[in-house]
Amino acid sequence: MLTRWMIPATQLRTQHEDGQWLVFDDATGEMWQVTQGVADVLESLDEGWQPGAPLPPRLQPFNLAPADASALVADLVRQGLVVDAVAAKAFPRPRRRRWYILTWSIWRVPALSPGHWRLMVTVLAAAAVASAAILWTDLPVFPGQGRIAFLAQSFRGALLTPVVSKRSFGGLLACWVLLSAVHELAHAFTLTSRTGKPVEVGLRLMFGWPRPFANVTALVTLARRSDRIPVLLAGSFAEFAAWLVLLAALGERVVALGLPFVLLGPIVLLANLVPLMRNDGYLLLQELTGDRDLMRTARRAAHRAFVVADPQVGRPTRWWLPWYGLFELALLPATVVLLGLFLGVLVSYPTAGVVSGFVGGAAVLSSRLRGIDTEAGEWTDAHAA
Ligand SMILES: [Zn+2]
Repeated sequence: MLTRWMIPATQLRTQHEDGQWLVFDDATGEMWQVTQGVADVLESLDEGWQPGAPLPPRLQPFNLAPADASALVADLVRQGLVVDAVAAKAFPRPRRRRWYILTWSIWRVPALSPGHWRLMVTVLAAAAVASAAILWTDLPVFPGQGRIAFLAQSFRGALLTPVVSKRSFGGLLACWVLLSAVHELAHAFTLTSRTGKPVEVGLRLMFGWPRPFANVTALVTLARRSDRIPVLLAGSFAEFAAWLVLLAALGERVVALGLPFVLLGPIVLLANLVPLMRNDGYLLLQELTGDRDLMRTARRAAHRAFVVADPQVGRPTRWWLPWYGLFELALLPATVVLLGLFLGVLVSYPTAGVVSGFVGGAAVLSSRLRGIDTEAGEWTDAHAA
């Protein structure tokens, strides 16, 4: 039977306001960034054009020879962007699964109307401001010490003695679960209010470590950056607002939860917005720079600047990129070293802990360095022009 190339019905193509084309598969959650030429080829296939047939008007500027058109479509088939209409059901593409991540979807957040979303944001913001005002006036004022100084002292105390008693552990855990739920729901509702489509929220276990999630990959179907950025910011700000409300509502009972609760709000903001791993802050930085694979670009820049100088490539356009790549590369190995030290102290063999920490950290670092692909392998054969 003759093959007939087609675009999966679940595929959404969006041109962002900076000109980039993003393709999103609504069924698998996969995402691709393609050139204008590839977007034109996909559009033409969607309109019924097949390689070998005369070029439709939108493809004529590219001067594609029939052999080039076939090669290009074959590459798009390998990438999963184009499927064979006949064999599409017979050969589903295997989805990449990572053994150390377990995903548990709990709820499909329904679509919220923009009006309801604005109402929710207004109520939460008003509650947060009122709570902050209550907390501010309730702060104990000691003679000769201002409120700011008292806050700084409390934070310092919480950092120096981050002891959680068995009694307060349950309460702290409950607060963390509540605040995380607010965080993920805020991402989800902000997105559904813009796309009109439900969003999956749930729990992800990474190496057994629980982390709540909201699947906001459909973010790329929003053409305007001013629509995408609020979705990324919503989580942290809603969580911080909920923390303020909780703090004000608990009043004197905060003491029973222990000082670590005082740190929860600021830590949440830092952990989510400082972009040293794939968190909200990282996704924001990708939006601000317009680079959809910023981590790889930064690692390559760090490799060129600090490991192997490549005279062929000029200086990076952003001066901070090599430094950002360096910090990101070093963060996990450094954590392994500290973990070794911590475990060593715990079993009263600090030297052995430090040594194994360094061995582990060096192994992680070298594997990360080897993993940097220094070749410019970005869509080399997927350009239509
Ligand atoms: Zn988030």
